[in-house]
Amino acid sequence: MKKFNRREFLKKAKTMSAGIAVSGLSNDTIENFFVNRLPQKKKVSIRSYRDLGNTGFKVSDISCGACRINNAAIVRYAVDRGVNYFDTASFYGQSEKFISEALKEKRKDVFIATKSNIWKFKSPFELKKNIMKSIENSLKNLRTDYLDCYQIWIANVEKMRIGEVHEAFENAKKEGKVRYFGITNHSADVGDVIKQSLNDDLLNSLTIGYHYLSKKGVSDYVKKAAKKGKSIVAMKTLLGAYLAKIPNWENEQPSFGENFESLSNRRKILLYNEYKNSDKKKFNIDFLLSAQKWVLSNPDINTIIQTFRTFEDVDDYLQASGEKFGYRDKEVLDDYVALVWDKYCRIGCDSCHSSCPGGVPINDILRFQMYFENYGDKRMAVDGYSGLPPDKLGDKCYDCIDALCQKACPYGLAIKERIIKTHEVLSKMEIT
Ligand code: SF4
Ligand code: SF4
Repeated sequence: MKKFNRREFLKKAKTMSAGIAVSGLSNDTIENFFVNRLPQKKKVSIRSYRDLGNTGFKVSDISCGACRINNAAIVRYAVDRGVNYFDTASFYGQSEKFISEALKEKRKDVFIATKSNIWKFKSPFELKKNIMKSIENSLKNLRTDYLDCYQIWIANVEKMRIGEVHEAFENAKKEGKVRYFGITNHSADVGDVIKQSLNDDLLNSLTIGYHYLSKKGVSDYVKKAAKKGKSIVAMKTLLGAYLAKIPNWENEQPSFGENFESLSNRRKILLYNEYKNSDKKKFNIDFLLSAQKWVLSNPDINTIIQTFRTFEDVDDYLQASGEKFGYRDKEVLDDYVALVWDKYCRIGCDSCHSSCPGGVPINDILRFQMYFENYGDKRMAVDGYSGLPPDKLGDKCYDCIDALCQKACPYGLAIKERIIKTHEVLSKMEIT
C-alpha cells in the first residue's frame, strides 16, 4: 500500500472529504476521520495551568482566541489537549455556535469569555439595552445559562466610565447571567485602560495586547492589576504575525499550487522554506514558541489566547505550554524583530499618538492593515476600519505635507503611505 507523507495525506483527505460530504456525513465526522489517521507529529498537551486572577479557576497557559474558529472539531481537539479558556464574540461569525456545539458536555470545565459590538447607540439608555440584548444573544448562541465573562470590546477610559454600562453589568450579575466582567484593549491607551480598571472592582478581567516589544510601563500596570486579583489574558503576542506574510516580504510571489492563505502557519513556513531553501533559522516555527514563551515568562500573565484555525495550529501553539524562555528564544525573537523593525506597528505603542494634527488613530489603522495583510482577515479589518469616526479616517493623509507622524515614529515606519493604502483598500471593500 502506498504510504503518504503528511502533506500528501492532507491533500488526499481534502479531495476525498469533498466526495464524502455528499454522502451525508457531517464535516466534523470527516475531519475527525482524517485527523485520527494522520501520520502524527508528537501530540502536545497543556503542561501548565495558572490562577485566572482571583476567580478560583485554573486556566491553561495557552488558550483559544476563537475569532476564526470554523469547525467544532478544532475546539474539541483543543479541549482534549487541556485547553480550557475560550475567548469568543457574537460578531466572530459562527464562533459562539461552534464553541457551544463542541463544549456542551464540558461546560463546567471550561471558561467562556465573550463580547459584542454594542457601540452604535443614540443614548446611554440605548447602550444599556444593547448590552442586555447582546448578553441574551450570546447565552442563546452558546446554549448556556451563564457566561463566565462578558467584556467591553475595545475599551477606552471613556467607555469604562459610562454609568449605564455598569448598571447593565450589575443587572446581569444579579440575574446570574454573567459571572465576571472585563475589557479588551490592543490600542495605544492600554496603560490608561489598565489604570482605570484598578479602581473598578466590577471589571475583573483584562484581555490586552502584550508582546516582546511591549513597553515596560505596560508590564508595570499589569503587575498592579495582578496584585488586585484581576485576570490578565494576553493577545497579539506574535509581533504582527509576519510569518503569514513571508512570501510578500521580498516581493516574491511564489505559486505554491494550493490556497496558501488557508494553510496553518506551520504549513506556510514549511512551504516557504522549501521554496526559499535557505535561512530556516529566521523563518522557523521556533518563532511562534519563543514569542509565547517570552509572554509566559511574566508570572502576572495568566494565559495567552491564540487563533486556532487548524488542528496543526493547536499542536504548534501548545508546544510552548509550560516551557521556559531561554537564551536561544531571545536570539530567535531578536532575529525576527530585526526583520520587522520598520514594518511592525507595535501593538499598544503611542509614540506617534499626539503628532498627528488631525488626530488620525495611527496605531488602530495600522492594526487593521495587519488584520488584512498579515492575518488575511478581511472581515476584522473592514469592521474595525468602518467603526472609526468619519473625521478620523486615512483620507486626512492625502493633503498632509509635513507627515509629522513619521518623524515621531522611532522605528521609521512609512506611516503616511501605509495609512493611505489602507484607506483605499478598506473604505471601498464590502464584506457580505
Ligand atoms: S500623514 Fe499627516 S494626517 Fe496622516 S497620520 Fe501622519 S500626521 Fe496625521
Ligand atoms: S507608527 Fe510607530 S510610533 Fe506610531 S504607533 Fe506604530 S510603531 Fe508606534
